[in-house]
Amino acid sequence: VIELGTPERSVVTTCAYCGVGCNFKAELNGDELVRMVPYKHGKANRGHSCVKGRFAYGYAHHKDRILKPMIRETTEEPWREVDWDEALAFAAAKMRGLQQKYGRKSIGVITSSRCTNEETYLVQKLARAVFGNNNTDTCARVCHSPTGYGLGKTYGTSAGTQDFDSVMQSDVIMIIGANPTDAHPVFASRMKKRVRQGAKVIVVDPRRIDMVRSTHIEATHHLPLRPGTNVAIVTAMAHVIVTEGLHDEAFIRERCDWDEFQHYADFVSDPRHAPEAIEMLTGVPATELRAAARLYATGGNGAIYYGLGVTEHSQGSTTVMGIANLAMLTGNIGREGVGVNPLRGQNNVQGSCDMGSFPHELPGYRHVKLPDVRAIYEQAWGVEIDPEPGLRIPNMLDAAVEGRFKGLYCQGEDILQSDPDTHHVAAGLAAMECVIVHDLFLNETANYAHVFLPGSTFLEKDGTFTNAERRINPVRKVMAPKNGYEDWEVTQMLANAMGAGWHYTHPSQIMDEIAATTPSFAGVSFELLEEKGSVQWPCNEAAPEGTPMMHVDGFMSGKGHFMVTEYIATDERTGPRFPLLLTTGRILSQYNVGAQTRRTANSAWHSEDILEIHPHDAEQRGVKEGDWVRLASRAGETTLRATLTERVAAGVVYTTFHHPETQANVVTTDFSDWATNCPEYKVTAVQVSPSNGP
Ligand code: SF4
Repeated sequence: VIELGTPERSVVTTCAYCGVGCNFKAELNGDELVRMVPYKHGKANRGHSCVKGRFAYGYAHHKDRILKPMIRETTEEPWREVDWDEALAFAAAKMRGLQQKYGRKSIGVITSSRCTNEETYLVQKLARAVFGNNNTDTCARVCHSPTGYGLGKTYGTSAGTQDFDSVMQSDVIMIIGANPTDAHPVFASRMKKRVRQGAKVIVVDPRRIDMVRSTHIEATHHLPLRPGTNVAIVTAMAHVIVTEGLHDEAFIRERCDWDEFQHYADFVSDPRHAPEAIEMLTGVPATELRAAARLYATGGNGAIYYGLGVTEHSQGSTTVMGIANLAMLTGNIGREGVGVNPLRGQNNVQGSCDMGSFPHELPGYRHVKLPDVRAIYEQAWGVEIDPEPGLRIPNMLDAAVEGRFKGLYCQGEDILQSDPDTHHVAAGLAAMECVIVHDLFLNETANYAHVFLPGSTFLEKDGTFTNAERRINPVRKVMAPKNGYEDWEVTQMLANAMGAGWHYTHPSQIMDEIAATTPSFAGVSFELLEEKGSVQWPCNEAAPEGTPMMHVDGFMSGKGHFMVTEYIATDERTGPRFPLLLTTGRILSQYNVGAQTRRTANSAWHSEDILEIHPHDAEQRGVKEGDWVRLASRAGETTLRATLTERVAAGVVYTTFHHPETQANVVTTDFSDWATNCPEYKVTAVQVSPSNGP
């Protein structure tokens, strides 16, 4: 028993890991943080937490943190510690010099979903108002950008429809391409509670995840599809619903575009979309698929939750639209217990997208080409906004390799480890003349950097995160920044070193600017958050208390839009050289590239990435439990240990991407979603062979 005593003070703040957005009471003795206590009034977590938020905060004090700015002329030179003024003057001169030499559009920014809304807003403002271009992108590019596209096209807004509590009214819970137990554990507990009360579960996933079968939980249907065939599955479900007359015609007539529905109904009714016709392609028995479709359509309140197993595909946006179609077909929109809900991976993916981090959209998902939207920011910022969309992350890297993109400010994101096709990312970074990394640690990307600006942790800043249910949660400063400045201050100093003349003194002023320029945030202020604890957007004159549930009386787009979802096979093909399909994901104790969790005691639970392989595939290759194996694809290869398990089907292998020693993304391809360039992490043709180790 560890006796911690009564803390001297506490500060309520928000977890910086996943999109659940749990509130914690950070308890301190003096300046020492002694524990994180799940906050019982937190509306997303109601006093619950997982091992990340509860225990994995020690990275804030880790010896690896870099606390002083550093610069170097070339990446061959050692780093030189300098003061903030020198570092910022060096960075500003480099970036301005590049613009003079190569043009205004030769530089850009990448923001992180780990940063606050206010920090993210300032980074995109830096690109648009100071660099004078729209070269701003976010790590949401590599996770939920298809959600933005797909839900925007069908429902008119890029966000989940429900609050978390809604699941307690669900009768059927369909989980597609998500593993909530590992990736969204606190919400998974609420889901499981509802299942124990009698709700039915449909799991669509290549792996037999925990929600398929665990203590007191057994899914009614598990559709273990072949990776890359999501679109065929959701279209076949729609085929069953329409051809068996299970759709909700009254809802469709009232709420959706009827002509579009008829076109869509003709499309899905074609026999080529029948479950029997796609059984060979998907590997899912037709009888099981038919039964799952009938259950979703007729089992009462049907809710769909999905994750990166939907979005990180060459047809990620198509699957999102297919899911949205299913909910409209069955009238599962606009009341408790139903809806379509992306489970956002990182703490502030939702906010990062809301804040205009995309190269084609200003805050609030408004296209940069719209003159009246640009006019709002031109007036607020006193600059002219470029009407042309900028470069996405993969386009920045391609342009760098081609010599057209020369400078990058990268805040809180290790693109070398987290983005696909590591060799191509490295080539892009190596071709740039000024890479500014703003982060806690010297990460893999920093190997290619010329300026390192120390970052601050979530414990050292004020601001807000927006969770997967659109809940804007306060982040409160628990301790002073060890590096001297909060991240928004560093961005402001860089902007001012380039001549911007910004003068924010607190993130609340940034939120006031967001509210003044973004209709869905018009009612949000730090005062309101103090009063309410948190609030869900849209929060404005029409919804001063916020909006727990969307599309109650109508879609944001007026009528709901059915979109045709034609299945197109990925270009990534298995063959004799690469006969297996690799898919990737997360594990409970770790978080993404592990920069934070690996520097905490959580590493004891998961100290290396492991390859899951079916016993049949392992036997064919002479691989035994715990053996080292070589994992190779057309893009590259890595070495890791294998575990033999029937969690994966024969022909499929699975691993996580938490450890730089493995660099799992060395093997992933550069194929990406047709609409958004979200990388196809979930489908890589690979070969596995015995190895003597790294
Ligand atoms: Fe909650 Fe997610 Fe943090 Fe765990 S990682 S405590 S579920 S916000």
